[in-house]
Amino acid sequence: MAGIKAPRGVRDILPEESWKWAYVLERTEHISHCHGYREIHLPVFEQTELFSRGIGETTDVVEKEMYTFLDRGERSLTLRPEATASMVRAYLQNNMHSEQQPVKLWCAGPMFRYERPQKGRYRQFWQIDVEALGTSNPLVDVEIINVALALFEDLGLSNLDVVINSVGCPECRPAYRDELKAYFQDHLEDLCDTCQNRFDRNPLRILDCKNEKCREITAGAPDIYSSLCEDCRIHFDKVLEGLKMLQIPFHIDKRLVRGLDYYTKTAFEVLSGELGAQNAVCGGGRYDNLSEAIGGPRLPGVGFAAGIERIVLIMEQQGCDFGPKPSVDVYVIAADDLSREEAFYVATELRRNGIRADLDFLERSMKAQFKSAVSKDSVFTCIVGEKEISRSVVTVKDLRTGEQSEISRKDLAGYLQPRIRP
Ligand code: ATP
Ligand code: MG
Repeated sequence: MAGIKAPRGVRDILPEESWKWAYVLERTEHISHCHGYREIHLPVFEQTELFSRGIGETTDVVEKEMYTFLDRGERSLTLRPEATASMVRAYLQNNMHSEQQPVKLWCAGPMFRYERPQKGRYRQFWQIDVEALGTSNPLVDVEIINVALALFEDLGLSNLDVVINSVGCPECRPAYRDELKAYFQDHLEDLCDTCQNRFDRNPLRILDCKNEKCREITAGAPDIYSSLCEDCRIHFDKVLEGLKMLQIPFHIDKRLVRGLDYYTKTAFEVLSGELGAQNAVCGGGRYDNLSEAIGGPRLPGVGFAAGIERIVLIMEQQGCDFGPKPSVDVYVIAADDLSREEAFYVATELRRNGIRADLDFLERSMKAQFKSAVSKDSVFTCIVGEKEISRSVVTVKDLRTGEQSEISRKDLAGYLQPRIRP
């Protein structure tokens, strides 16, 4: 097994980092509940059709990035590249239309996309996904944006930019698509290969291209605003008004179109100055046509997904607080070889009383055990030796003050508890 490594673009989140993730997830849970969103656990793989229909055949995700395989029953399954389609599928399958609307849900978990790995971009990555299903009220778009920002503020992120746009709807988008095509027609040779390909299939996606030359061209492209139908225009205005009412600063960007076809009306991203090329921390928007695209009834929805790797990266770069690093309260030290089992017993007793205790299993010297206590940031050491055992006591040392006292075994947990978590 020695030579086998994790697949390209996939990483282990080691204990030095995982506690930071736990903090982000704990705050996500808190902020979601604060806004009335309940947690749902969704499957990691789904029928391929859910994504090919729900995300759109002409998107990068479906064309190039999905992990699709046949199971032993010859069914085509796909590791989820995102959670929104599953969220809508779960709503439909579990008859959530009979609940009070909107149904507001959140989840977090790994997503899978076959992408070129680089900083902040992996093939397995985690997203926090927050969605409100069952209403087209523009105030819910505002609420969704606000949930994302409330989370980022709670985590201490600064230097963020909210970018927003409307991508219209199937009624008004075709006219805009034609207008765009007329514009790009004159620049066709200068577009990158991918965009030349997009020209016929999905010209809106050209606006989204990160290629330098394409960006120069798209800067002069017409915007959608004069093409929006009345419904989309009113919706967009109401969302902007709502953001202003909540004093949320934002920029309108005509080039923001999102990679996914089912988006209607509102599209938004939260960008960070800290991340370089992978500068999006969160992306979202409204997807009033997704349910129908997967064979369901009309079901409007709006939501966002934020990448945990990128959140943690920015928090590290900005020196944000991750809360207390997990450590042990007590390190139990055996003073001699005959006391090692007793030390194990003492540690177990402490653990049974809710005290975080650890000890040595390599029969190391007292000096080495003390070193471990310090390196594990423990607050106390409890020394167990022949002398202590014979008198049913433990020598307790407070590593913060250096103060040392003998405490009887039966009083040990009671003595430590208030001193550890007053
Ligand atoms: P990008 O433009 O960076 O590819 P995207 O538009 O594909 O992002 P979404 O599908 O909207 O991203 O996903 C929402 C968020 O998930 C992104 O803003 C980002 O934080 C995160 N994310 C997306 N793809 C990856 C990835 N391959 N690795 C790590 N995080 C990712
Ligand atoms: Mg992408």
